[in-house]
Amino acid sequence: MREDSPTINSSFPLSDLRESATVLAKMLALESKRGFDNRAVIGGLEKILPFWVEFANHSLLDPSTTEEITTGFRSYNSMGRVEREHFVGRILSLLSSRSKPAPLDPRSLEEAHNGWTRPAGNDPSVAQATALSRVGPAVGAVASLDDALAAPLTVLHGVGQKTAATLAKLGLNTLYDLLYYFPRRYNDYSALKPIRDLRYGEELSVAGVLRTVQVRESSRSSLSMVEAVVDDATAPLRVIWFNQRWLARTLRPGTALILSGKIDVFGGRLAMINPEWEPLDKQHLNTGRIVPVYPLTSGIRQRWLRKVMFDLVSFWAPRITDPLPAEIRTRAELVGLSRALQWIHFPETQQQLAQARRRLAFDEVLYIQLGVLAQRRDWTAVETKPFQASDASIRALLKRLPFALTRAQERALADIRQDLAQKRPMNRMLQGDVGSGKTVLAGLAIAIVASQGSQAALMAPTGILAQQHFQTLTTWLANSDDPNAPFKSDEIALLLGDTPEKESRRVLDGLAAGSIKLVIGTHALLEDPVHFRDLRLVVIDEQHRFGVHHRALLRAKGNAPHLLVMTATPIPRSLALTVYGDLDLTLMDEMPPGRMPVETRVLHPRQRALAYELISQEINAGHQAYIIYPVIEAGERTTLKSAKQEFAVLRKTIFPQYRIGLLHGKMSQKEKDQVMLAFKEKQLQILVSTSVVEVGVDVPDATVMLIEGASRFGLAQLHQLRGRVGRGGERSYCILIPEDENQLENERLEIMTRTQNGFELAEKDLELRGPGEFLGTRQSGLPNMRLAAITDVHLIEEAREHALRLFEADPNLSGPEHEMLKNSMARYWQQDTIDIS
Ligand code: ADP
Ligand code: MG
Repeated sequence: MREDSPTINSSFPLSDLRESATVLAKMLALESKRGFDNRAVIGGLEKILPFWVEFANHSLLDPSTTEEITTGFRSYNSMGRVEREHFVGRILSLLSSRSKPAPLDPRSLEEAHNGWTRPAGNDPSVAQATALSRVGPAVGAVASLDDALAAPLTVLHGVGQKTAATLAKLGLNTLYDLLYYFPRRYNDYSALKPIRDLRYGEELSVAGVLRTVQVRESSRSSLSMVEAVVDDATAPLRVIWFNQRWLARTLRPGTALILSGKIDVFGGRLAMINPEWEPLDKQHLNTGRIVPVYPLTSGIRQRWLRKVMFDLVSFWAPRITDPLPAEIRTRAELVGLSRALQWIHFPETQQQLAQARRRLAFDEVLYIQLGVLAQRRDWTAVETKPFQASDASIRALLKRLPFALTRAQERALADIRQDLAQKRPMNRMLQGDVGSGKTVLAGLAIAIVASQGSQAALMAPTGILAQQHFQTLTTWLANSDDPNAPFKSDEIALLLGDTPEKESRRVLDGLAAGSIKLVIGTHALLEDPVHFRDLRLVVIDEQHRFGVHHRALLRAKGNAPHLLVMTATPIPRSLALTVYGDLDLTLMDEMPPGRMPVETRVLHPRQRALAYELISQEINAGHQAYIIYPVIEAGERTTLKSAKQEFAVLRKTIFPQYRIGLLHGKMSQKEKDQVMLAFKEKQLQILVSTSVVEVGVDVPDATVMLIEGASRFGLAQLHQLRGRVGRGGERSYCILIPEDENQLENERLEIMTRTQNGFELAEKDLELRGPGEFLGTRQSGLPNMRLAAITDVHLIEEAREHALRLFEADPNLSGPEHEMLKNSMARYWQQDTIDIS
């Protein structure tokens, strides 16, 4: 390949000079064609600096000129147009004069000037024209941009029915959906280095010329390997692709490439393995920049989606009108929506990404808050039946309990009594740590309402939990030997998904007739055939496991019923005010007396045997144990222990003498209930589980919990898990084992050993891990807060304040200046992404 030329110092391979000159000429020609907007090269002209350095080295330019131009590249972005034009012109003239001894291959020169007819989609202007023509009718015929964005994805170039169906699996149906389909993460390949300076482990981009490329077959495996050498004149670099044999046919030696990925080692030397690559002279969406990584489904490729996304975003994002009033935008220092959408997908810098996230997170919180405020207003605007409870009747109820209320319970009772006595429906959230005794309060509220002839419904997320409530409340409130009991036994019913036909018929009839006063159940309560005669109280337990729309559905079955929701998620107050802004809050910050703290220890992975010993000891004493893993199945790359795999090991080799069960989220609700019941009834001694076990089931004999991969959990979540043991008054233990030894330095887990206060742990979580812990769908039961979850609490509070002010000024958003905002908010609330698994 390489040829030496007598006219130039022969220690320099001529082809390097020629190629670097070609690349420079190409890119500069493009830049000038684009009117010096610094977009010919994604990430800026600075990215071709290595080619300049290469050219300068080989063409023996005088050092001061070299230096001057090098500096020029670095500051190109801040130059004005005229200055840029001058700069580019200067290099182009240097190129042509210096290249004379070894003239450019006429073909490549021609390419340099004509070769810019990029494939349609690559040139934003072409993409725009294409997109415009494809969605043309929509744009032309309809009044608003909103309607145009509601167009199905098939209007996009390259998206047919089949692809559209695949995209629908990702919840992507319209252009709008796609525009708001944000990257899961980003690979920052914006750093570009000369090959000579590469270090092992770096993630970056390299620009160079492909020297050789060949396929290597492995005799032993079916693996094929394409091996290439890329050279940027500072050094050659080996590049390996596995199982992409076609690359050997596609990649031509002599092509200038940009490669992005991690610097690895292969055969003892630095190499790139399976890097992303693109021709240097094309639009770079996969290399040389901060590259978006989207969540995918099978049949959708990352590169393809990026391309579709880029076309879409380039065309539509600039056309979006910002619904946020300018005043708020200015006060909160937010970037415009157009920019935010461009930058969330294709940021050029980390700052752009941060600004985009901030803006879009602000929108999320604002919409949530406005929606929640409107809901609160609507709910409390109606009148309902007030329920007064005399002190005597309350005393009679409390006398039936085997214990006295804690002060926290008494305060909560006072709140509830006061709420129920109003004509405005109660709208209260009872937030209390695991084991703080919330069920009693549900029972009291129910008894107050039912004693005056109305009906109540209690909904729990699982059958077993509903069953547990049924037992507790029946024992307490419907003792058949006791003529003074507030309920007769047949006035309380249980309704689950698998309740037999005959029984469920009886329950449905009883509810419709009013002869059943209290129904306890699961999602089954939300079904169509469930009708009430006079439902006046809805209680929702473990409310974070339900979506807002579940609450609304159950509520709609009543006569403007009073609502009590209960949760053990110790969510920090600032967040609670935001995401549960529609509810009044009662905190129960005190535990029933006599509860012993769960002794908590952090162990090294190599001390695991100690944990097993403790488990044996406890089981031999007649107790039970939980062993928790962070994932159901092991992924390919991780060494993380998984519930399924470890279950097999534990059963066969570690604890063959005990009865062990397995519980995880991929099992059907019925299977889960069966396993949980077997554990509760002591048919199982050890329960191996993922975090699904965290919902409030009472197994009083469980005295020890081992949590593997503990570093994967938030503190609040660990605390919830830990709350499964120590419910029977016996001494109880919780052992935390982090993923690996290093993680032990993680002070975080040690906090668990020092406090048993869920709210304190929640605040710590907020401080250490951000609001994501709490705003994930499962925790909040709100529309998916993707961006707010990764931002900071200050932003959330700021957005909330703006929402409050807006709501005060224009509660219906009926002012013309708020019309767009109203529409955007409605759209946000429509996309119901609640996950109740
Ligand atoms: P959670 O708030 O987690 O739902 P529960 O209502 O299930 O808590 O109560 C946990 C346990 O504490 C139950 O066994 C319950 O009988 C008991 N309990 C509740 N209140 C008191 C109290 N004031 N004194 C003693 N035990 C109580
Ligand atoms: Mg509970």
